Amino acid sequence: MASAMELVRAGKSVTVVEKADQVGGLAKTLTYIEEDGAFRTDIGPHRFFSKNQYLYEFIEDLLKEEWRQVRRLTRFCVDGKFYLYPIRIRNVLSQIGMVKAFRMIFDYAWEKIRGLVAPRPQRSFEDYVLSAFGRTLAEFNMIGYTEKIWGLRCSEISINWATQRIKGLSVVSALKKALFPKQSGPKTLIDSFYYPSFGSGCIYEAIRERIEKAGNPVLLNTEPSAIHWEGKPASAPAPSARLGTGSATAGRRVTDVDIRSSTGTKTLTPGSVISSVPPSVLVKLFNPAPPVEILDAASKLKFRSQVYLFLIIDKNSVMQDNWIYFPDKNIPFGRISEMKNFSTEMAPPGKSSLMIEFFCFEGDRIWNMDKNALVNEAVPILERFGFFTRSQVLNAHHFRIAHVYPLYDLHYEEHARTVMKWLDGFENFYAVGRPGRFRYTNQDHSLEMGILAAQSILTGVRKDIETVGAEQEYFERGYHGAQGQRG
Ligand SMILES: Cc1cc2nc3c(=O)[nH]c(=O)nc-3n(C[C@H](O)[C@H](O)[C@H](O)COP(=O)(O)OP(=O)(O)OC[C@H]3O[C@@H](n4cnc5c(N)ncnc54)[C@H](O)[C@@H]3O)c2cc1C
Repeated sequence: MASAMELVRAGKSVTVVEKADQVGGLAKTLTYIEEDGAFRTDIGPHRFFSKNQYLYEFIEDLLKEEWRQVRRLTRFCVDGKFYLYPIRIRNVLSQIGMVKAFRMIFDYAWEKIRGLVAPRPQRSFEDYVLSAFGRTLAEFNMIGYTEKIWGLRCSEISINWATQRIKGLSVVSALKKALFPKQSGPKTLIDSFYYPSFGSGCIYEAIRERIEKAGNPVLLNTEPSAIHWEGKPASAPAPSARLGTGSATAGRRVTDVDIRSSTGTKTLTPGSVISSVPPSVLVKLFNPAPPVEILDAASKLKFRSQVYLFLIIDKNSVMQDNWIYFPDKNIPFGRISEMKNFSTEMAPPGKSSLMIEFFCFEGDRIWNMDKNALVNEAVPILERFGFFTRSQVLNAHHFRIAHVYPLYDLHYEEHARTVMKWLDGFENFYAVGRPGRFRYTNQDHSLEMGILAAQSILTGVRKDIETVGAEQEYFERGYHGAQGQRG
């Protein structure tokens, strides 16, 4: 959608082909009309933050005043106790007890000494968090939730997950944050965020409106069924080759794309194609077929899925938090969010709602649970915590999404590199976004990838999409680096 917006602003024609029945992907907002009015929810909590000023301007232009700053309150629940997140030292110490506090300090000190004498090899997420925080602290608020998200042991999760998600976070930075809360901390400790009044999906609905108004079709419930290409015989790249370096192979280009919907199939002949289709699905669409090494690597790029339960609650407020994490293994869901705490427009006055996220693999036990089974799993636990009573649950909605989290196992990087290198070898094809590049992006990075793909087309110079958000300095650099490239 960001690509389309950028291209349309530059006077180009686009066709958006979207498999779902609404735009916005994982950042869309769903609306449920109940007796009491409209209840809106995102797919899990969606805060927007970025140090990329261009993106704020991009969104403000779309939403005008329907875009506000929200103060963040989030907690995590361990052993039935609720702790503030980001951690506040006093809040933790008042609840965990002296024994655990001493174990945290001891383990942390032990890891630091061990690091000097015999450092842990840094391969997995577990290696990273044990070295950085010590076992007791890592188990307290990192390992359990991470294993719940991924369905893998932390020793089987790539270290990239740690460097991407908790980069800059350390005991020292957490202590600084606790002692000097006004100073800004690293990425995961941000205290407020921007949010559209009617849900994160408004950004993408606004783009849809703009591009349709300019005469460009947005085809919903439609998907590509074949991507035809021509050029040099495709050869598999060396796995060590760096991805996204912008070295398209001259002569290899997409010629036509067949799309299908319930009304039939038709062929488009685009100048360029920008795709957020997951690699395992995408590579099978290419005709002629890619080399077998590419098909094989793409088939190994797996995703974690989610099942969602959205409860309509007969209460003005369920909790103070935007969301609460539940790392404990004996609690079947991973996070709850109250959308009204993002914007009061998300539920009618006097009522509220709760979004409950379950992590799963497509086809597993949780994936196959029906609505009543999910209600029976979740509601008694939430009742015990005192959020609401069962009789206050007015209605429940349930849905599933596959391809939510690109699975960062220990080998994903090599497979992703192989596939992306081949895709980036096309002159006029751009893989972008979270599923498209198999990268755990947030909205800001997906938007930037889309904008860079559009800029590549507009300027004729392929931008480096792969490294968007990959470096720690990204947040300091903001869009200025990209603006520089735009020339
Ligand atoms: C629970 C949860 C919480 C999140 N919280 C935040 C947050 O707080 N802040 C934040 O910034 N981000 C958050 N995100 C991430 C954010 O949703 C994503 O970064 C963003 O939506 C990714 O956009 P994308 O376009 O890259 O991919 P997607 O949103 O996955 O969009 C891909 C699009 O491609 C379409 N598509 C896929 N296959 C096909 C096909 N074969 N044919 C046609 N169309 C196809 C999909 O239907 C979809 O519309 C969260 C995500 C989740 C799941």
